[in-house]
Order: sequence, then structure tokens, then C-alpha cells
Amino acid sequence: MRLDRWLTRQPQLNRRHALSALAAGRVRVNGATISDPLHEVGPFDDIHLSAPDATVCLQVARCPRHILLNKPAGVVTACHDPEHPTVIDVLRDTLNARGEDSAWLAEIHHVGRLDRATTGALLLTNDGDVSARISDAGLEGPAKRYRMGLERPLTEAEQESAIAQVRQGVLLEHDPRPTLPAQLAFLTADQVRLTLHEGRHHHVKRLWRSLGNRVVWLHRESVAGLSLEGLAPGEWRELTREECSRLG
Ligand code: URA
Repeated sequence: MRLDRWLTRQPQLNRRHALSALAAGRVRVNGATISDPLHEVGPFDDIHLSAPDATVCLQVARCPRHILLNKPAGVVTACHDPEHPTVIDVLRDTLNARGEDSAWLAEIHHVGRLDRATTGALLLTNDGDVSARISDAGLEGPAKRYRMGLERPLTEAEQESAIAQVRQGVLLEHDPRPTLPAQLAFLTADQVRLTLHEGRHHHVKRLWRSLGNRVVWLHRESVAGLSLEGLAPGEWRELTREECSRLG
């Protein structure tokens, strides 16, 4: 966001004073004096304003963190839960076992959601822009690849029909919009790989219900091109710089 716009949105600042401080070279971003109103700032920048009597810290620099977790079964995708362990608990347990600080987890949230029994790739981040980009993805958005078991094995003709329906879009219960085109591949008569470019509530299970079948287990193999290679269930890692830049 432009620095002038960012400053005028700060509730503790008077709009006119904030803009005159900017013009007068009294705003520092990451230690440098900035007077250009068009200078771009984001949630991870350090922003200070010097008033005649004091320097006011408007935002403290934070470190962007993006995490890929291989979510184990039985863990809920939530920050807090009164009954079940959460994905944040999984991260905290690892940090505690390593004797590392876990305070930064307070600002981490999950990107999208996997059901409690679903296993596999889950992204977590402290960057709201990244989660919005991935969650609101359309056809051109980052793909999510799932593998699943079906209750009823399908004949070859049924498989062809399911592949065509999923490619065209399927109406889910309680949703007037058909699903976006997706790719379905049969690994066996009752095991399937599905690549989606969107995520609706219980998307995969509702999709198969609309097609007259039922999902008996579900695993997400990859999200946004990030696969779980080297991560056992419950393990996680921070994304590399190159992977972060691919998230946009
Ligand atoms: N779709 C579902 O139905 N469940 C999940 O956990 C993920 C996608």
C-alpha cells in the first residue's frame, strides 16, 4: 500500500499531521527517511514517525513466515480448540522439543482448511495477503492435489463419466454455482487423484456425494506446487526464499 494512504489509515494519527510529517521527512521506513507518498509499504515493514517531542513507532518490523505442514489425522485446522489438538499445537510441540522460542506462533494462521481426518499438505503463514491469494484462487490460482479412497469402486464407463463431469463442473448440495473445471485421474477403481483450483467447504466430499459416491479417506498431496517430500506426518518446514516468491 502507498505510504501516504497507510499513514492516513492509522487511527492514532491525525490525517493532516501525518501527511505534513511525511512531506517534512519525518517518517522512517526500515530505518530510512522516506518522503515519497507513493513509496510502497507492507505488513512487515518497520515504520516510525518523529514528532517534535518523541518518535512514535507505528509498526514494528516482522519477519514473514510461511510454513508447510504434513497434517496428521486427528488434528483440527484451527488456532484454538477446546477438545482436539490443533495444527498450531503440532508446530508448538516441535519447537518445544527443540527448545526453540514459540512466541511467534501467536501470529500464524492456516491457509484454507483440512478436515480433522484429512491428512497432508497445509500451508500456514503470518501474511494475510498470501492466504487471501491462495484461498480466493480461481482457475489460474495455485492447484491443490488430493488423493482419496472411494467407498464404491467405479466401472470403466463410470470412471469416464466422472472424469467428464468433474472437468465440466458439478453442482454441490446447497451451492448454486457449479464447481470450476478440475482434473480427475483414476489410480485404481476406488482410488483417485483430483486436482482442484478452488476450495469450498468440504469440497471433495461434497463433490463425490453429488456424483453418488463417498470418500472414505482423503490426503492432500500438494498445495500451490509444494509437495510433502521429506515430511512425515506431523513434520513441517519453513518455505525457502524461492518458494515464498512463488507464492507471490
Ligand atoms: N475437501 C474436503 O471435503 N475435506 C478436506 O479436508 C479438504 C477438501
